[in-house]
Amino acid sequence: MQASTSNRPRVCVPVCEKDLGALRNGCELATEWADVIELRLDCLTELPEQLPSDFSRPVILTFRPTEQGGHRDSTHAERKAFWTSLAPHIQSAYWDVEADLLAELSLNWPRIIVSHHDFSGVPDDLEQIYERLAATPAAVVKIAVQANDITDCLPVFRLLDRARTEGRELIAIAMGNAGIATRILGPSRGSFLTYGALDDESATAPGQVTARRLRSLYHVDKIDSDTMICGLVGLPVMHSVSPYIHNAAFESEGINGVYLPFEVRDAKEFFRRMVHPRSRELSWNLRGLSVTAPHKQTVMECLDWIDSTAHEIGAVNTVVVDRDRLLGYNTDAAGFIEPLLVRVGSLRDATVAVVGAGGAARAAVYALRQQNAVVTVFARDAEKAKLLGVSCESLEGASFAGYDVVINATPLGSGAYIDQTPVTSEQLNGVRCVYDLIYNPRETRLLREAVAAGCENLGGLEMLISQAKLQFELWTGKKPSMINEAMSNVL
Ligand code: NAP
Repeated sequence: MQASTSNRPRVCVPVCEKDLGALRNGCELATEWADVIELRLDCLTELPEQLPSDFSRPVILTFRPTEQGGHRDSTHAERKAFWTSLAPHIQSAYWDVEADLLAELSLNWPRIIVSHHDFSGVPDDLEQIYERLAATPAAVVKIAVQANDITDCLPVFRLLDRARTEGRELIAIAMGNAGIATRILGPSRGSFLTYGALDDESATAPGQVTARRLRSLYHVDKIDSDTMICGLVGLPVMHSVSPYIHNAAFESEGINGVYLPFEVRDAKEFFRRMVHPRSRELSWNLRGLSVTAPHKQTVMECLDWIDSTAHEIGAVNTVVVDRDRLLGYNTDAAGFIEPLLVRVGSLRDATVAVVGAGGAARAAVYALRQQNAVVTVFARDAEKAKLLGVSCESLEGASFAGYDVVINATPLGSGAYIDQTPVTSEQLNGVRCVYDLIYNPRETRLLREAVAAGCENLGGLEMLISQAKLQFELWTGKKPSMINEAMSNVL
């Protein structure tokens, strides 16, 4: 590994194991995705007399004390002893040394990464910390801070811009889910490398994405300054399958684009500081956003123009960055209705029961009315149901006999409610088709109830893909193919 000034991304996989056998094993597994392997020697329960030296990738040695985010309660003297006696056995490794030890060691500076970690937040004196570390002869400076909000990515990106203009090698990371953009986009903005976990259970820092996903989902090696950036804004977003849909679509259409999860608490601040071209503090090629709960209404206040469908539904799920303007759309309604029409044909005068009165129900009711269906909302909260402007009934003890279509627009059947169903087979007697908007799991308890009652059934994945295709077209002008195939490998 050469300390180079090129922007070629490098993925480093940390291996943190309790004994040498497991460490060797981990290194072998890491080889598939790593350019560089970080040996987290602070994870070893007992330090051996000698360390192995035959690795199939360049290595970084790390011996981090607990108080700086490591796994070992070692004294200053023990840390010093490690670097002077044990570490030199591994030839030509990079050493990741905390700043407080630098002055006390005799170091081969071209192999030194000098590091600073802050697990509580972004320190006010971040720039000064960088200046102090950059003033040492170390080959690479590493600064990792905790992102408590997505806007905490801004000072980290600023630091990368500064290091690039100063010709200094820097690894800068905002840890935590809110900082994931720095891990995925960092190398394209000059970060010396980015860290990727061996698997979902092995992350050595908060928010660390697996190396496999960095490479095979986000294609981190291909991201450059021309890459079109899109993403999903919501809270939570880390469970979402949208990155699988859109990144597969970019890949299949040969478009230089990447789609990331943006975990956002305060949508207005995110739009002001990072999204709106007239106010943002970040220069990036942001092209579009998907918007999910709880921000579909709030973002409407941040846009320059909203299309009439989104206005009528009262929610925006898609944002397009069009030069210096932000445009808002809603693709949920069209994405919802398309698979249903394919399944049942015309909905004119069809009687349709929508269960739930939240955002998805709102888009469904809008689309169904456009098709001249006769819609009734069944909800536990009558006041909320009334706001949808169609007839409504209580969900408790409801019978759906005589309805052509029953739609589930509640979370019952997914996540914490995975074993639940809003409607049982007895209530579905005589219903033609049951449409569950839940897409994960693909087969919900409601769909099983529908089969038991002899109804046709339709899951939510078709809607998810259908609305995503419309989003993709809004951002790129292209209709994506291959999405269905890509999705069947994921869910
Ligand atoms: P939302 O705005 O939070 O609305 C959820 C609705 O479900 C509310 O009316 C809520 O009632 C009701 N509800 C929640 N728990 C309930 C319970 N235990 N019993 C009865 N009703 C209950 O959520 P959303 O955005 O509309 O999403 C709803 C579902 O649709 C989610 O599972 C989501 O994954 C799915 N969805 C799928 C797609 C797709 O592309 N396939 C797109 C959007 C949404 P209260 O108002 O009384 O709390």
